[in-house]
Amino acid sequence: METNSTTDASVIGKIWNKRPLIISGPCSAETEEQVIQTALQLKETGKVDILRAGIWKPRTRPGNFEGIGAKGLPWMQQARKLTGLPLAVEVATAKQVEDALHFDIDVLWIGARTTVNPFSVQELANALRGVNVPVFIKNPVNADLELWIGAMERVAKAGVDKLGLIHRGFSSYGNTEFRNAPMWHLAIEMKRRYPGVPFLIDPSHICGNRHMLQEVTQNAIDLDYDGAIIESHIDPDNAWSDAKQQVTPQRLKELLDDIVWRKETI
Ligand code: PEP
Ligand code: MN
Repeated sequence: METNSTTDASVIGKIWNKRPLIISGPCSAETEEQVIQTALQLKETGKVDILRAGIWKPRTRPGNFEGIGAKGLPWMQQARKLTGLPLAVEVATAKQVEDALHFDIDVLWIGARTTVNPFSVQELANALRGVNVPVFIKNPVNADLELWIGAMERVAKAGVDKLGLIHRGFSSYGNTEFRNAPMWHLAIEMKRRYPGVPFLIDPSHICGNRHMLQEVTQNAIDLDYDGAIIESHIDPDNAWSDAKQQVTPQRLKELLDDIVWRKETI
């Protein structure tokens, strides 16, 4: 086991260009034990490049678990120390960027509920100025490509040179088979506009369940996506957020083993 307490920039550089690029970990960091056990089991699969966990959770309705907050960041650091896996966290405010960087989080992502708001994206871009940390930008919750492009432009203008995109689907009214409709054509248009930018599928938030994850991930790989961010948890049924869509690290391994990768992605 590696004992890195931070990740070398060259390691991140290599991962950035690795195909498929796989990010996994719990929707939310809940306890130190849960973060570390999930990380150890993910490392064991040999399939995961970056460990994700939500520290601050943007919940649609109040009264749900809103994230453990900055106290979870040292747990992630400990997980990196034990596994060598670089860390990714969602940020929505300048203070969260500051806290995440204080704990040497390697990769940040902007969530769907933040991409919709140019004020918030600009605040994040300002906080990222002069900090060379890779950033993934999820599509906005609504099917508006301009907002997604605008977020890319704002963060790029702040001098962030490693920018990636995550397709997590678009919300729609009423019951559909998806939690968030993929609207593949919109994502493909975005992918076409940014050639060479890592483009990941987030089947977890598209599906909202476990049984469609495989199919949605396979579809994305067939469309030449560069990888996936998939939620995993040591005890998915008892997860504090997004319990229905998370899978165990072992199940994640099986899912990835069953994907037919494009030759160029291996
Ligand atoms: C998440 O990744 O846990 C998350 C909150 O995602 P999204 O912004 O896609 O809803
Ligand atoms: Mn989630």
